Amino acid sequence: MMENRMKSMISDRVKNSKDSLTLSLAEKAKTLRDAGESVISFGTGEPDFTTPGYICDGAKKAIDAGYTKYDAVAGVLALRKAISKKLRDDNGLDYPPENIIVNSGAKSSISVALQAILNPGDEVIIPRPYWVSYTEIIRFAGGVPVIAETQKEDNFKLTPDELIYAITPKTKAIILNTPVNPTGVIYTLDELLALSEVLVRNKILVISDEIYEEFVYDNHKHISIASLNREIKNQTILVNGFSKTYAMTGWRLGYAAANAEIIMGMTRVQGHTISHPSTISQHAGITALEEKSNTVDNIIRMFDERRLAMIEYLNKIPELDYIYPESTFYIFVDISNILNNRKNIINPDTSFGFSEKLLEVAKVIVIPGEAFGMPNYIRLSFATSLEDIDEGFRRITQFIERY
Ligand code: PMP
Ligand code: GLU
Repeated sequence: MMENRMKSMISDRVKNSKDSLTLSLAEKAKTLRDAGESVISFGTGEPDFTTPGYICDGAKKAIDAGYTKYDAVAGVLALRKAISKKLRDDNGLDYPPENIIVNSGAKSSISVALQAILNPGDEVIIPRPYWVSYTEIIRFAGGVPVIAETQKEDNFKLTPDELIYAITPKTKAIILNTPVNPTGVIYTLDELLALSEVLVRNKILVISDEIYEEFVYDNHKHISIASLNREIKNQTILVNGFSKTYAMTGWRLGYAAANAEIIMGMTRVQGHTISHPSTISQHAGITALEEKSNTVDNIIRMFDERRLAMIEYLNKIPELDYIYPESTFYIFVDISNILNNRKNIINPDTSFGFSEKLLEVAKVIVIPGEAFGMPNYIRLSFATSLEDIDEGFRRITQFIERY
């Protein structure tokens, strides 16, 4: 017994999991830059500018007004009212404040949701490629991630047949992310309708991760699966947050909207774990939504320019194939041609090895596809300046000539 206790200080569950590669590479970029290295980062999944001034002012006012104490576990009521209005105005969804919970980032919304809905061994479907944290959050909540395979010719979007194939008697939920990180594609109304029909028929809950909602280009439009009909809405836990839209990654503010039973369960989990997100951040969130200026539109316009600049560079490198980005700030690049035809640089033929060498030799950070379950790909983020895109591609082009 004693021997068993001393074997390891951390649980098997944690031991068998991995660090977040997206976050650790973002940290690495910062450390190298602080040490004076000229690093270009196409890794970071966060806007490159600071939080708009009007939102920071909202937080300063909240501190001065004494909003520095515990508040409701589900989140400050005024913020839930503002989110309720946002969901009605932007998504055509009716969620009263009682059907909304505010969490410490969308990551925490997903984690709290899974803890509230899963019994040990319940399966959660995630389409591949998947965002790096989904598998680990599911495991931490006692669930089993089940990867649903998708096809390149469908731009890696899940089809109803692929969904049906992944369903078993143990399936409890699916995490559906649109706009999609890492591929930058977006599900259309027809695609969502077809999936929702299967999900309703099989009574499967949907965690709908809509964090990149605002980052859509070329007249594409984000549609929340919850808005399709009453049945699917009742099975959906809509997740969104402030990190991306308002450049508030460090404020840790996200939210979920769902039926009353699920919100009650999530509130119980949150009450015993994080209590609630910082009240100061929540007041900043109220300002962000209530005084929504044209800042967000300007940000999207700027990102579109960067997207087109990156696409132009990619088009000039015949060895690289990529999924056309309709949304988010990511481009998912197929590097299998390069891995299969290496010239000089001796390295394992994986995107992880490629990314490591690219950083070592060219000082450019990209996220290896392994993070998303796709070893022949890399993810490039265009949430960075046009100057960095120019310089980064000068380096990448040179590197590929030698690789
Ligand atoms: N979902 C996806 C798909 C993401 O890329 C991220 C990363 N920001 C999150 C959720 C979590 O975002 P946050 O916790 O910062 O709100
Ligand atoms: N979600 C972003 C990314 O995919 C930020 C880092 C993280 O939270 O994982 O890079």
